[in-house]
Amino acid sequence: MRNDVHMGHKARKRFGQNFLNDPYIIDGIVSAINPLPGQNLVEIGPGLGALTEPVGREVDKMTVIELDRDLAERLRHHPELAKKLTIHEGDAMRFDFTQLVQEGNKLRIFGNLPYNISTPLMFHLFEFHKDVQDMHFMLQKEVVKRLAAGPGTKAYGRLTVMAQYFCKVVPVLEVPPTAFVPPPKVDSAVVRLVPYETLPHPTTNMKWLDRVVREGFNQRRKTVRNCYKGLLEAEQLEEFGINPTMRPENLTLEQFVKMANWLDANHEA
Ligand code: SAM
Repeated sequence: MRNDVHMGHKARKRFGQNFLNDPYIIDGIVSAINPLPGQNLVEIGPGLGALTEPVGREVDKMTVIELDRDLAERLRHHPELAKKLTIHEGDAMRFDFTQLVQEGNKLRIFGNLPYNISTPLMFHLFEFHKDVQDMHFMLQKEVVKRLAAGPGTKAYGRLTVMAQYFCKVVPVLEVPPTAFVPPPKVDSAVVRLVPYETLPHPTTNMKWLDRVVREGFNQRRKTVRNCYKGLLEAEQLEEFGINPTMRPENLTLEQFVKMANWLDANHEA
């Protein structure tokens, strides 16, 4: 039997389609989301409705964004869901989430994300952090490790620092390939991202923060002093509590922000 046909739909690789098919895992994810009536729930990539159906049962209405035309069409005719759903057929990476915000009702975004675009999609979503209450995503386990990593570890990188700049990161659940049709080649995990109401380490200039973080992780083997040569002197680094001979991958979020804010005040971008 083909293992890429589920409920009469042939999974499309280019859309990262791996459909959840394990009731225990689905229950675990829905409990973690804990949807309640009146909340502003938004699902990215509802697919064949594995999460949409149980979440939809708890609420009167919700929003979904689906790129696959056939799947969006199926949802329009879904016997239970059709009347509850507002369906946006299109690319979540280009979607302006501010259009979904209602006064006093921030977005609760969730999805079993297409793994091929999960990282750029999260960067896109961070732009809307002020309008988001929380996000629950199924991702590759490696990506969840990166989101939750601490300085000095292999998994610590640009995604870690930028995610932790905006959000509290809470790994929720590990998921084996057998929970999906077709099974992905990698292990998966669910993570909760909760944007801070007040950023713990705000930057005065996101462009500088983006630059110091990118440069730091593009040159992991260099010392901090060499990595930021021409931008920050050793004495300046020491004032921030940074040893100039350490590697950028040992810098904390707070230290990256200190460098960015000093550069914002003292350098042309
Ligand atoms: N939620 C379903 C489940 O758990 O069984 C499907 C998950 S599947 C991993 C990813 C879903 O995202 C598919 O339905 C796919 O068509 C959709 N998708 C892929 N790229 C997308 C994009 N750029 N914007 C919105 N949806 C997308």
